[in-house]
Amino acid sequence: MLEAQKERGEKTCGGYLTWSAISLLNQIGISTDYLIDNGAQKIEHLIQLWDKNFITHSHHCGEYGIGCKRLLLDNWLTECATNEGVQVEYGERVQSFSNLGDVFNVNNYCGKKLVFATGARGFVSKDSRIVLSEQSFGISAHIRGTGKINKKTIYFWYLDNLKNDYFWAIPIGGDVWNIGIWFQHLPEKKPQELFYEKANQYLFPEFFGYEYINKPHGAFCGNVNMTSFLPENCYGVGDFAGCNITTSGEGFICKLLPKPVSSFCINFSRFK
Ligand SMILES: Cc1cc2nc3c(=O)[nH]c(=O)nc-3n(C[C@H](O)[C@H](O)[C@H](O)COP(=O)(O)OP(=O)(O)OC[C@H]3O[C@@H](n4cnc5c(N)ncnc54)[C@H](O)[C@@H]3O)c2cc1C
Repeated sequence: MLEAQKERGEKTCGGYLTWSAISLLNQIGISTDYLIDNGAQKIEHLIQLWDKNFITHSHHCGEYGIGCKRLLLDNWLTECATNEGVQVEYGERVQSFSNLGDVFNVNNYCGKKLVFATGARGFVSKDSRIVLSEQSFGISAHIRGTGKINKKTIYFWYLDNLKNDYFWAIPIGGDVWNIGIWFQHLPEKKPQELFYEKANQYLFPEFFGYEYINKPHGAFCGNVNMTSFLPENCYGVGDFAGCNITTSGEGFICKLLPKPVSSFCINFSRFK
């Protein structure tokens, strides 16, 4: 595995593992108990809010989501991979690849198959300009704080009745929250300004006090499948393969595998 970054650091995105993601990991022999034992938060409910309405979704007994810090998740997944014999090299940006017969050469490493997991910006740079305008966009941050909101619940505040764009809050362990804003497409108004505006409108009134641990950071998310740009024996996964779900921002599942059944019972409620 060749990774362009020189080292792994904390990321503010991707704080929530759905029950589907947890089930997929279980299916390939990886138990997520490690995350819970190391400070991640079990999530039992999802509350969606818009205008003066809200819906509460509750997981069926035995099912749950996990809110966690990305570094905890990434360190642990890398350890699982290296235990299986994967060699991981940092600071290795892939600029191009060549093939001799049926063997590919990438940065002087050889292999018969290539898997592209290069994210929403893709790898084929001449096409990425076209693709980016079609990708979703999110900004998220970490705050530490206590307040009236429930640490076993994730919250989605929709920005309008279309329910495409929203502000969210996910408890990720202790008093730490992953908060962020999601857009189906990059908005015309500065997204960072919208992040602060909506945080002040929806979220911060719910807290007694808070501090930023990691400042807001924006990134594109891949809902465009770029595998058609690849030659034979090359494969794409994750955001490169368009696996991000635009309505929820979920990227940690793989559409190519059969989706495990995730059951929610829904409780419709209204503000008084
Ligand atoms: C703000 C935000 C919040 C999100 N929240 C959630 C969430 O709560 N739950 C969820 O399931 N999903 C969430 N997502 C989506 C999720 O983060 C992505 O779908 C997921 O990270 C995609 O994984 P990936 O491995 O395909 O790509 P990435 O995570 O983008 O990883 C791509 C990697 O490839 C490396 N790379 C790129 N180009 C090269 C190159 N040429 N050579 C070598 N290395 C290269 C990059 O450095 C990077 O490490 C969120 C996304 C955003 C932006």
